Amino acid sequence: MQSPANTLSLDEYWMPFTANRQFKAAPRLLTRAEGMYYTSDDGRQVLDGTAGLWCVNAGHGRREIATAVADQLRDMDYAPSFQMGHPLAFQFAERLGRIAPPGLDRIFFTGSGSESVDTALKIALAYQRAIGQGTRTRLIGRERGYHGVGFGGVSVGGILNNRRTFIGLPGSDHLRHTHDPARNRFCQGLPEHGAELADDLERLVQLHGAETIAAVIVEPVAGSTGVLLPPRGYLERLREIATRHGILLIFDEVITGFGRLGTPFAAGYFGVTPDLITTAKGLTNGAIPMGAVFCARHVQDALMTGPENLIELFHGYTYSGHPAACAAGMAVLDIYEREGLLVRGGELETEWRQAMLSLRDAAHVTDIRTIGLVAGIELASRDGAPAARAYDVFVDCFQQGLLIRVTGDIIALSPPLIVERAQIGTIVATIRDALNRVR
Ligand code: PMP
Repeated sequence: MQSPANTLSLDEYWMPFTANRQFKAAPRLLTRAEGMYYTSDDGRQVLDGTAGLWCVNAGHGRREIATAVADQLRDMDYAPSFQMGHPLAFQFAERLGRIAPPGLDRIFFTGSGSESVDTALKIALAYQRAIGQGTRTRLIGRERGYHGVGFGGVSVGGILNNRRTFIGLPGSDHLRHTHDPARNRFCQGLPEHGAELADDLERLVQLHGAETIAAVIVEPVAGSTGVLLPPRGYLERLREIATRHGILLIFDEVITGFGRLGTPFAAGYFGVTPDLITTAKGLTNGAIPMGAVFCARHVQDALMTGPENLIELFHGYTYSGHPAACAAGMAVLDIYEREGLLVRGGELETEWRQAMLSLRDAAHVTDIRTIGLVAGIELASRDGAPAARAYDVFVDCFQQGLLIRVTGDIIALSPPLIVERAQIGTIVATIRDALNRVR
């Protein structure tokens, strides 16, 4: 088969988050997707170990999503999002409210995870101002947190490469991250050690004054920085400290939302209810760009005061609640509910963990962490070349027909929630082979 890579010009498209010059030397292109598999441009089947980018939870090529989107575009392609509405956005929000954690059933639609994060941070600032706490403008994130690429998200995010080039919002600060392999290596389930790291919020309160802090945002499970699990009791403690000081707690569930941990949201998995939840990705199974912020009633209610013609939150996007995205999301919820996908990660959790831990003795492996249908496999870095070994594993796996994601020297796995047991075996065997081959 003639590979499109041989005929395409690779000069014009500036790829995101990619070393473009390196990619042009050895392009990897995907051309089709069905179920658990991509097809590469040279016609090979590639098992999807990452659900695209943590988003294709119901697997690829679901016809009913395509049909719902096409039907909607024919019926009404677009409706203005300000001062006008359309029924589907209200229906979709109502359905989302039904699976939301208790009380978080006020839904604000966005176009992506980054937009959801910036929206949640802005809601937090607006809320504090509305309750007479306008001095609370400081936003707290966490080291090794990833919250997208908006200026708000970059400010609270804790990835050096995201922060180095861009100036963050003044006053933002960070909790320490919770990754401590020395104490928690190969933990089965949540790490036993590290709940006390939540007290960092108390420390920041003592440092800056509670009256300056609007919100704290964390990923319940940090995904993009290598699957970092919250120590047992950590999130509960963070909730308690935030509440005590009038600080809103935001969970960034762009990755963990919609069944990744075997519950609709990580908030349910951990039994901790934040004030706001940011989502995207699995919301539409990755088929149409869309995000949503789940907001607690008490937060929205505080903004619904003042004169009736007052716009409560001066914020929104042209594509907020886009009809095609809502149609996709409704079809996706149908699939999730009919096929039990929002709980399947829980059914497979133990088996998945055992399968991943079988790599414990494989070459280069220094730690393995799993939760729901997520895994992080940490490798020893090659001398003087951080991230190089994991990148070689990624390329080797792709050549063998498995798509994985690597971040630094950590392999991150998050297959579609329809993954079959035999495919879990294939994922493990392929990674083991690759680890044996790389130096
Ligand atoms: N928050 C988290 C936790 C994420 O993982 C991501 C994307 N990986 C984002 C925000 C940003 O989402 P997007 O790329 O859709 O803007």
